[in-house]
Amino acid sequence: MSEFEHSPQRHASQVELVSGYDVERVRQAFPILAQRIYGKPLVYLDSAATSQKPQAVIDAMSRFFLAENANVHRGVHYLSVRATEAYEQARAKVQGFLNAERVEEIVFVRGTTEAINLVAQTYGKVHVQAGDEVLISAMEHHSNIVPWQMLCEQSGARLRVAPIDDAGELLLDQLERLIGPRTRLVAISHVSNVLGTVNPIRRIVELAHARGAPVLVDGAQAAPHLQVDVRELGCDFYALSGHKMYGPTGIGALYGRRELLEAMPPYQGGGDMILSVSFEKTLYNKPPYRFEAGTPNMAGAIGLGAAIDFLGELGAQAIAAHEQAVLAYAQRALATVPGLRLIGTAADKVGVLSFVLDDIHPHDIGTILDREGVAIRTGHHCAQPLMQRFGLAATARASLGCYSSERDIDALVAGLARVREMFR
Ligand code: PLP
Repeated sequence: MSEFEHSPQRHASQVELVSGYDVERVRQAFPILAQRIYGKPLVYLDSAATSQKPQAVIDAMSRFFLAENANVHRGVHYLSVRATEAYEQARAKVQGFLNAERVEEIVFVRGTTEAINLVAQTYGKVHVQAGDEVLISAMEHHSNIVPWQMLCEQSGARLRVAPIDDAGELLLDQLERLIGPRTRLVAISHVSNVLGTVNPIRRIVELAHARGAPVLVDGAQAAPHLQVDVRELGCDFYALSGHKMYGPTGIGALYGRRELLEAMPPYQGGGDMILSVSFEKTLYNKPPYRFEAGTPNMAGAIGLGAAIDFLGELGAQAIAAHEQAVLAYAQRALATVPGLRLIGTAADKVGVLSFVLDDIHPHDIGTILDREGVAIRTGHHCAQPLMQRFGLAATARASLGCYSSERDIDALVAGLARVREMFR
């Protein structure tokens, strides 16, 4: 018999989400959560790596393949028109989700990683020259470090890094001092995937704009948890990944201010990003199409649109309030575990709980918890410089989603007691 036993799936379409936050009902919208792992109920505490998908997202994607699939933008036939409409509606949903002023400001990409590479290799290539600077922070994910390092190598620019304190909060005065006349871009995460810290983006944007530097925000970990409003934040670019916010993998979005996108050269060449092509000269399409070469991930975009609808039904504030309550419960519960040290204790943080436990290797913690049905992530979390800042090679990380409950935390704490027993 398989170690992975499946319980009968319930369909989200049969589950009405009520206005009061009922986590048990929310969980029913996610069929995968009904599983048992090694005979134990699945406790999924790895949403920062990727979130689970509600039935509504799975259904929207199935519907697309069952009834609407055709290539977008190029066809005159019924299905192509329908697919194009669905794809463009999804773009409008992302616009609404981010409160962007215009739909043309939303570029579909594979995810946050591609969004940042796109900006580095288009905006960055034009605006960042030898001797210029790009400013990031000490808590960035590799995908908000390496694309800038690559750009700096290509251009002769310098990468500067704003430091953080022991709680995992940005040292804003030092960040401010690092924004100088040669700073061409500030690239900063909205929320840290290791620490959970919510960075004061509005303030950072004010500081950067006062010195003429645009700001790119890596929103991969913010979009699932916070109400994001790019106009309120004032940022110039905002990147997100569908799979972290209950949508599918392989789809994400880049928001870019219209004037900036319009002045940017293409990222990749191919179909759809052109107005006309001859062997002598190609004229490029306008944004966002200029940045979407080739057949896009249509089903992915539609799935992301469905995820945005799902988030909207639950309500960003209701999700945030629920997750904050579970986070507070988890912080209290983990404080009772002897030898456990939380990494990331910022005053403003989301439900990401990184920790070390005595000198037990995080991989051992993760493996033992797994046998208890508890899924957490262990390792450097694609943030090796941040690990170095804390003098660690790795941490264990439990991360919350809209379906996380106090029962999940109880199972985590019970699992950690088991880990301690085994290492006694
Ligand atoms: N930025 C942060 C803060 C992340 O946590 C992640 C993924 O873990 C990324 C960027 C990269 O996202 P993706 O792999 O979806 O491109």
